[in-house]
Amino acid sequence: MRAPSAFRKLNTKEREIIDALLAKTFRGRDEIREQINNSLVERAKCECGCKTINFSTKSIVRVRSKKRIPVEAFYFKGDRPYQILLHIVDGKVSYLEFVSYSDQVDLEYPKVGALKITVNEK
Ligand SMILES: [Zn+2]
Repeated sequence: MRAPSAFRKLNTKEREIIDALLAKTFRGRDEIREQINNSLVERAKCECGCKTINFSTKSIVRVRSKKRIPVEAFYFKGDRPYQILLHIVDGKVSYLEFVSYSDQVDLEYPKVGALKITVNEK
């Protein structure tokens, strides 16, 4: 028997973070939004407890971005630095990676207001 699909819609916190990442205009931004609006997501397979999600999109639109990570966010919780990376692979939104730069994984979503967004795509 096959395991039931773990794919689901974005939750509110994920939606807020993505909206913040896509707030500024950059090449590929609109295609990314189109894909995400037609996506389901699943928790990453890693066991660390992070909030990383994989996308599965039904959209046939391709992202024109030339950067693997066209946009990213950086934040602190206390003195611990964290990063959120939106990965584009072969023209498709692939995953939203939550990275810890300390020995402590962030088990909660950051406040959107704490995010320092950097656009890497022109
Ligand atoms: Zn993880």
